[in-house]
Amino acid sequence: MGNCAIVGINWGDEGKGRMVDLLTQDYDVVVRYQGGGNAGHTVINEYGKFALHLLPSGIFRKGVVNILGNGVALDPENLWKEIEQVTSQGVPITPENLKISDRASLLLPWHRLLDGLEEARLADKKFGSTKQGIAPFYSDKYQKKTVLAGELLYNPNLRQHLAELLEWKNLTITGVYGAEPVTMAELEAWLDSYCEKIKPFICDTGAFLRDAQKQGKKILFEAQLGALRDLDYGIFPYTTSSNAIAAYAPVGSGLPSAKLDEVIGVVKAYSTCVGEGPFVCEMFGQEAEALRSAGFEYGAKTGRPRRVGPVDVVATRYGVQVQGATNIALTKLDVLSYMDRIPVCEAYELDGERTEEFPFPSRLNDAKPVITYMEGWKQDISGIRKWEDLPEAARKYVEYLEAQIGCRIGFVSVGPERDSIILR
Ligand code: GDP
Repeated sequence: MGNCAIVGINWGDEGKGRMVDLLTQDYDVVVRYQGGGNAGHTVINEYGKFALHLLPSGIFRKGVVNILGNGVALDPENLWKEIEQVTSQGVPITPENLKISDRASLLLPWHRLLDGLEEARLADKKFGSTKQGIAPFYSDKYQKKTVLAGELLYNPNLRQHLAELLEWKNLTITGVYGAEPVTMAELEAWLDSYCEKIKPFICDTGAFLRDAQKQGKKILFEAQLGALRDLDYGIFPYTTSSNAIAAYAPVGSGLPSAKLDEVIGVVKAYSTCVGEGPFVCEMFGQEAEALRSAGFEYGAKTGRPRRVGPVDVVATRYGVQVQGATNIALTKLDVLSYMDRIPVCEAYELDGERTEEFPFPSRLNDAKPVITYMEGWKQDISGIRKWEDLPEAARKYVEYLEAQIGCRIGFVSVGPERDSIILR
């Protein structure tokens, strides 16, 4: 195995953090290449339980260098709070094991404010933003109205640059939303506290990665969210504001020439979705409540109950295709153990016809799920570590999915702990 990306195939929350935490034992470098603190990777290991938002999941492994690439939304305040939280649980974080790209743009104090103001303006038409400022951040990055992390080190006129951005941004804050302007004093307090604290971690991570590649080091690229939330290939506009797909990993990491030798797509044994937007296979009522509580499906960042449904073969096959997945990690198979029979969304019905192709985003509103059932296994499988020890019905479920989505399922996860995994 050389370079590998670990990506979500569906709506996010598939268990990517858990897979990265497991697989980092084989890698030297772990890079987060997109997104910000708007999602959470849950990791359970010898240090305890963690909800990582921005830190790469390799942070727990001795000797692994973790990088926040140029493609991330770097929020100094939340990053510093996360560093403090994780170090307070006994995990060392130093400039040796965490490096921040000098080309990453800073998420500025007004981005979170604007996110909240816009969601409030949209009222019942809201997108279900986590209000972490991600959409305003990426919009400003594309307008070149952000500050690069490296400016904290190298720009003697940084305060002037910030004052100019502030003047421009306050036109929107006060004029469009009628809110109180952000002051230079607030910005300076932010600069002198959180930005000062993260400064020692900032460096030319592109140079570091090129050097690592030359030395034959193994690099793991860690995505946030899933294919269906990708800005270009997801269920627009219910996407995130960055590219979560594997193809973006080299660009957002600082190693644009990198080739991915392997793309591990993470798929949950059933579907979940946080926030608004079409979710064709959605279950409701008691059936949904039973699955939600069996899988403990509440957002890692927001605590919001997740929408749940059976595995969606149509969406998953599409996710596998756009990710270019070469191997699949199927997570949370243990959660389905309570079911007598397991529902599967095997196709959609659209305009009275059955389709197995994932439709154009707005057409999803008219799609209806075609549900089939597979036999349940009704026994606790969380202690099983070998494929042949799984009940036959569970193996059949995995094999069925494998055939439907067109990709090998090489890992089956049966619990949140690091070793609760079956390798095939
Ligand atoms: P991520 O953002 O893709 O890393 O996913 P989340 O952390 O939001 O959600 C995955 C959740 O499922 C976390 O609470 C994990 O601890 C948990 N989890 C991961 N794999 C398994 C599994 O195989 N079985 C069970 N029961 N829980 C799992």
